[in-house]
Amino acid sequence: MKLSGLRNLRPPKLGILSGMRVTFTTMLRTWAFNLSGGKVGLRSTVNYPKIKEMPVPRARGVIALEQDACTVCMLCARSCPDWCIYIEGHKEIKPPSRPGGRPRARATLDRFDIDYALCMYCGICVEVCPFDALFWTPEYEYSEYDMGPMMHDMDRLQDWMKTVPEGLGAQS
Ligand code: SF4
Ligand code: SF4
Repeated sequence: MKLSGLRNLRPPKLGILSGMRVTFTTMLRTWAFNLSGGKVGLRSTVNYPKIKEMPVPRARGVIALEQDACTVCMLCARSCPDWCIYIEGHKEIKPPSRPGGRPRARATLDRFDIDYALCMYCGICVEVCPFDALFWTPEYEYSEYDMGPMMHDMDRLQDWMKTVPEGLGAQS
């Protein structure tokens, strides 16, 4: 029998003890980290929500909508693999932009919802939007106990624009 085969014949108890040693050591080091406020020990986990990690600016936390930039073209909703974007709109006739011009028809949003209970955070909607109306923000604190509130309406999606990192938003 080869040497590697002999190694597999170790009594199973040793494997369990070895695993518990790793778990126990990691627990102590993490505990020390949390007690010292992040100065000592090992950060294996974070004592959330007492300690909050700041994700990188380009993290895919939640999608924000700039309502004024949206033309209700539906491209994002049609491209979404999960069919979790719901858009409704209507056309409004606006006055001509210059004297003597023709009145303009402008699409206006009535509804723009994203169901985050279905979203798989693929980012396709953000990529395909031709008018820069959708943005990722690193914000992640919007978990819910029920599925219903995971549907974010257009006002809530607009609110997320405040959390778009500088340089990544429409205002850049
Ligand atoms: S990130 Fe992907 S799954 Fe989520 S709404 Fe956008 S296209 Fe749909
Ligand atoms: S692709 Fe952009 S402009 Fe078109 S409906 Fe979606 S968010 Fe609005």
